[in-house]
Amino acid sequence: MSFVPRLPVFVSRLGLKIGGTAGTVAGLGMGLVSSVSVGIAALLGLGTAVFVYAASHFWLHRRLRHLQSVLHQVRTHEFDAQPPPSGPHGDELSTLLWEVHRTGQSLQTEIQELKEMESYRREFIGNVSHELKTPIFSVQGFAETLLDGALNDESVNRTFLEKILHHANRLDNLAHDLSTITKIETDELDMSNEAFKVTELFDAAIESVEVRAEEKGITPQQTVPPDLPRVYGDFDRLRRVLVNLVDNAIKYNEEGGTVQLEAALQADEVEIRVVDDGIGISPDHLPRLTERFYRVDKSRSRNQGGTGLGLAIVKHILGAHDRELHVESVPEEGSAFRFTLPTSPQPSLQPA
Ligand code: ADP
Repeated sequence: MSFVPRLPVFVSRLGLKIGGTAGTVAGLGMGLVSSVSVGIAALLGLGTAVFVYAASHFWLHRRLRHLQSVLHQVRTHEFDAQPPPSGPHGDELSTLLWEVHRTGQSLQTEIQELKEMESYRREFIGNVSHELKTPIFSVQGFAETLLDGALNDESVNRTFLEKILHHANRLDNLAHDLSTITKIETDELDMSNEAFKVTELFDAAIESVEVRAEEKGITPQQTVPPDLPRVYGDFDRLRRVLVNLVDNAIKYNEEGGTVQLEAALQADEVEIRVVDDGIGISPDHLPRLTERFYRVDKSRSRNQGGTGLGLAIVKHILGAHDRELHVESVPEEGSAFRFTLPTSPQPSLQPA
């Protein structure tokens, strides 16, 4: 056992001894004078001892017990079991109590964060291995079938090779998105803060999705007022945001559907919208849309080469710009994804 619970006992015993000895010495001295004085001296001694004991109990013993129980809570992680001390006022012991209490609180926060990180890591690894399995098994299966004789079968060999290529592309997309999201979630991305025209951003995004748009017979349209001020942010990251949104607007659309990229001034911000007339999303899916690997229709997403990470990346990049993604959607009618950008430099980001 530590010295902590013994100290007040020791102090109180010391008090009893000092008081008792003082009383005895005083009593003996005065005993020479008269027997009445002896009695008074003894009472005085006893009174002193009781006083010292009571004082030590109230000022020391009680608070040391409190300190002991706070340390016990820290050891057993029962941080909320005791009421917190009033504050860092009073003598050294009160300050110590307060410091121990605060140490317990910061330990609690750190333990909570570690637990959350651990469960995030486990869930992430589980999702990644699940996502990897399907394309790997498919590539293996088609390659084995080809080697077992289908290679010489003109009616299927080309289709099987195309399927292998499709799944290899899926793996490539996944590796790319995983590397981006890992960098973003571990805060490795430095956002720059440059001024640019919204049309430059729209042009760059449309160029990146050209092939998919052509395959679907869709021509993304831009609506940007001519006098729109420049916006501020990290051009490359925001291009990624736009590419993901426009790519989805094409992927989750019918052949020949429409995709609009719109910008409008709202007070001192520019609102950017990506609007489509595609399959839409039912309201119950909307709150979870930006979660990693969340998809409304898994097989449709996978067939289109989707990784389920696109909107999670969008959310993180906008978050690093202190911006939020908003979605409005009606099943069978279409969706609108929107966010705002500032028209003046953001102090929280790096200067360009
Ligand atoms: P994915 O790689 O599957 O496209 P995202 O994170 O980009 O992943 O999107 C998550 C899910 O949100 C998609 O699987 C899809 O179900 C839905 N979604 C996203 N954008 C649209 C859209 N414009 N129209 C309909 N559904 C969409």
